Amino acid sequence: MDINLVKQYAEFAVKIGVNPQPGQTLIIRAPIEGAFFARACAEAAYAAGAKEVVVHYSDEKLSRIKMENTAVEVLEDVKPWLQRSYLDYVESEGGACMLSISARDPEIYKGLDMEKIDRANQAAMKAQEEWRSYTMSDKVQWSIVAIPGPAWAKKVFPGDENAEEKLWQAIFQVCRVQEGTDVTAAWREHLVKLEARRNRLNELQLESVHFESANGTNLTVGLAENHTWEAAGGRTPQGYEFLPNIPTEEVFTAPHKDKVDGIVHGTKPYVYNGEIIDGFWVRFEHGRVVEYHAEKNEALLGHLLDTDEGARHIGEVALVPASSPINQSGILFYSTLFDENAACHIAFGAGYPGTVKGGNAMSKEQLLALGVNDSLVHEDVMIGAADTTITGQTKDGRTVPLFAQGEWVF
Ligand code: ZN
Ligand code: ZN
Repeated sequence: MDINLVKQYAEFAVKIGVNPQPGQTLIIRAPIEGAFFARACAEAAYAAGAKEVVVHYSDEKLSRIKMENTAVEVLEDVKPWLQRSYLDYVESEGGACMLSISARDPEIYKGLDMEKIDRANQAAMKAQEEWRSYTMSDKVQWSIVAIPGPAWAKKVFPGDENAEEKLWQAIFQVCRVQEGTDVTAAWREHLVKLEARRNRLNELQLESVHFESANGTNLTVGLAENHTWEAAGGRTPQGYEFLPNIPTEEVFTAPHKDKVDGIVHGTKPYVYNGEIIDGFWVRFEHGRVVEYHAEKNEALLGHLLDTDEGARHIGEVALVPASSPINQSGILFYSTLFDENAACHIAFGAGYPGTVKGGNAMSKEQLLALGVNDSLVHEDVMIGAADTTITGQTKDGRTVPLFAQGEWVF
């Protein structure tokens, strides 16, 4: 891998991704295999004026060992220190932001007891609910960036000796990291385009969007009251801009949790709880999944949908054209961070408060009343196909073509 490009990538993740302000603490979560990348990010953060960089290392192989060998009751007994450690920095003078570095093996928990993983994950999520409300409501700058890990690279490029190097190339390509290009400037330009699209969609005042494709998808997604379309850039109450997901190609909004009807087919496999769910469809009635099927790991899909009542409803609908660089790369990344930016998607579970007007300052009850879904989970699943047609219904009764043959026509 080209170390200069790695540095540029780290700099971009820090400057545009989390955008640490002078006097702020940057918390980095990194896999042990990514220590070199965490160091590059730390350097970039100090150069940007960060007061302190705090790194939490994790080891997913150790997580698997723990999952296999520890009693579920122990896994469920999540101590508050980890969440506390984040909150301590966020609540202190100057505040904090968080960069998560991901190199996940998509099948890290393959073959393990699904029920146990589920209970452990749910407990971990519950124990971090307060912290999650900071990120879900854009109260802090946060971002996720991926780097190749050995197991992940092998899954993407099976049987290839240079899998990791190839995955670096692929990541650079879809993240616009190129020799001789100002990566940060290229991203600013890209974000301006996404924001223009977002603004035009907001002017339409849509009531619902309708998806159709030859695979059998025929889905109407009613939108939450006072919904707003968003493009990837977030902004904290203090006005600090950040980019939650790297890369990003989507414009997205809040569906109304009770106004989704029809059938939708998944168009890419997706990773849940360290296993892959593939070849699935779900059928909605009044916003609720009433029927589902998957060729691979159907029971796991059922588990996801049974997490809580909100997991049976959706909290996000996102539009991504088939010409997105991630889709054009032809690579299936087995990582939602990338794959969700290759295709239109919906998310089972919680909605983003920021996708309704004034939502970041609203209570859960106020959000629910507008139709914004709530759940412990937020799981993006890809539903866009090369032939997807999308139309919008406006509040004043007009039908507006948005997508034809998988591409924007609006
Ligand atoms: Zn999304
Ligand atoms: Zn999402």
